Amino acid sequence: MNGLSDIRTVKNILSRHGFTFSKSLGQNFLIDPSVCPKMAELSGAAEGAGVIEIGPGIGVLTNELCALARKVVAIELDRRLIPVLSETLSEHNNLKIVPGDVLKIDLKKLIEDEFGGTDVAVCANLPYYITSPVIMKLLEDRLPVSSITVMVQKEAAQRICADVGTRSSGAITVSVNYFAKPKLLFNVSAGSFMPAPKVDSAVIRLDVLKEPPVKVNDEKMLFTVVKAAFSQRRKTLANSLSSALSINKSEVNQILLKSDIPLNARAEQLKLQNFADLANIIKNQNNINTN
Ligand code: SAM
Repeated sequence: MNGLSDIRTVKNILSRHGFTFSKSLGQNFLIDPSVCPKMAELSGAAEGAGVIEIGPGIGVLTNELCALARKVVAIELDRRLIPVLSETLSEHNNLKIVPGDVLKIDLKKLIEDEFGGTDVAVCANLPYYITSPVIMKLLEDRLPVSSITVMVQKEAAQRICADVGTRSSGAITVSVNYFAKPKLLFNVSAGSFMPAPKVDSAVIRLDVLKEPPVKVNDEKMLFTVVKAAFSQRRKTLANSLSSALSINKSEVNQILLKSDIPLNARAEQLKLQNFADLANIIKNQNNINTN
């Protein structure tokens, strides 16, 4: 159905279905007609491609993805939207709506069942309350996903796309860069949504790497160390690691020396290789629970 970003059409559909927005499900629907076509095109949705969408809402982005891709599978948690989607997307025969929680669904099995295990692209205007867990699940589960194009809060986009080793970087920057090459595509103002959120958004694309750029003995340890390193941004790396990993300060200093990292360094100054060295040395020396 066309016109799904037209505010009057949206209001009409929603009121006919007696739908009210759920803040806790991050429901801010796109009403700017320029955003979805651009986002779908930049996501790599193209003839022959399989696409997974998370949170189709009333289907404004889904509509564009279906027009470009071979097949689209859209996962929606809010069951009240299923009848709405059946109406708005009825003309597409290359679409499957899967009711459920993206964080609980076995995505590997879904990709196997729906796309025969071939590479798919992910494209979504993500519910902001689960931005990081969704991105990390998509990456950590090592799914056959070639790229992830998502709308997230502008601050989150800037953090994810910052260069590792700079002041704007954080734990999510390092973790994402272990799996993918992130790129900020374009900004989207708060007024492009109904209801309008308090903050602006941005679309980012993560191109998933075939191999991580650094070698670690234990990936879980890498993420434990990264999280610990950034746990107290105002402290030095040594202090953050010591308190978050319960290792005494002199031992942490030894680990830093072995890793060729200055004792007064801060987490935001470290490169991915520094984090890998730290994780490998800590893994060999300590009994830290990474669960
Ligand atoms: N794609 C639509 C658009 O751009 O207008 C809606 C985007 S809205 C920001 C987020 C959507 O994700 C909502 O439809 C919401 O119900 C859905 N959602 C929230 N949590 C979810 C979850 N855990 N799994 C799947 N969908 C979820």
